[in-house]
Amino acid sequence: MAKEITSEFNLKPEEAVILSAEKVAYGNGPFNGNNDLILTNQAIIFIKKDLFGKVKEVTRHPLSDICMSAGKPQAVKNQTDAVSASFDVYLTYGVEKFKFTFGSEVDEWVASVTETITGEKVQRKNEFEDLINFADTVSGSVNSLRKAFGIKSTEQGACKCSSCGASLSGTEDEVVICPFCGTHNKIG
Ligand SMILES: [Zn+2]
Repeated sequence: MAKEITSEFNLKPEEAVILSAEKVAYGNGPFNGNNDLILTNQAIIFIKKDLFGKVKEVTRHPLSDICMSAGKPQAVKNQTDAVSASFDVYLTYGVEKFKFTFGSEVDEWVASVTETITGEKVQRKNEFEDLINFADTVSGSVNSLRKAFGIKSTEQGACKCSSCGASLSGTEDEVVICPFCGTHNKIG
């Protein structure tokens, strides 16, 4: 397989999206871009867009064309300054550089590409989880902190269906659909 350039974005049969990003810059241009980058189980797909979001060009880089070293794909993070980073993908036909506003986004791309190609799980650094575990040991107020970060509560709750009165359960603040009448209820 080789790089494939088309004018529109279509997935192939048996192709599944694993990760996608918007506002990606490309190559040696400025650090702002309006392009999309998609990882599937078959390829890294770069969707070049104009300022108005119209697709200009779609380039497919098959995962099988990524160079390997010591069993790892050569798709690496290149920290360009304190915050921003580029995702450098070494392919049999050259290097492609995709620039992200935050280095943490590139970490996720490196991990996901590695997992997709090698089939082995890559451990993620999760600063929120560290902070939550720390808060747990200090104060025990895990759920309030989770809420502050927009992470779902794990506290169990129950309520009666507002329409038919059936007993419903789930995690706190979760919206459950009553299996009997289809009404949406928020667990409190
Ligand atoms: Zn109901």
